[in-house]
Amino acid sequence: MTAIAASYGVSRDAVRRVVDAAYYAREQARLAARQKTGRCVDCGRAITPTSTRCRDCAGIARRTTVRTDTLHCSACKQWKPDSAYYHDQDTPARRYHSWLCKTCDNQARRRYR
Ligand SMILES: [Zn+2]
Ligand SMILES: [Zn+2]
Repeated sequence: MTAIAASYGVSRDAVRRVVDAAYYAREQARLAARQKTGRCVDCGRAITPTSTRCRDCAGIARRTTVRTDTLHCSACKQWKPDSAYYHDQDTPARRYHSWLCKTCDNQARRRYR
């Protein structure tokens, strides 16, 4: 994150604000749409209407944003291959890839230039 913010000439906080805003907007929209159906937002399995994910998916969602061949973008919530992310020396847990995919990263960059 630091390396990205520095190389793009935006502050670390600006990057985080964009990430958070995008995250909450998308998550709220997604949950609102899916919640009424009584199905897990990830796998579609039938669940109690008060929850948003089944137990399995809740565990996965909590556990990791990294899979063997893909990484989770924290802005658009999609799983994308490593090549869809910029290098970030601060994130060894993500095989040194950014928290945002290139698409979302570029959007954040444009908005805060
Ligand atoms: Zn599920
Ligand atoms: Zn993204």
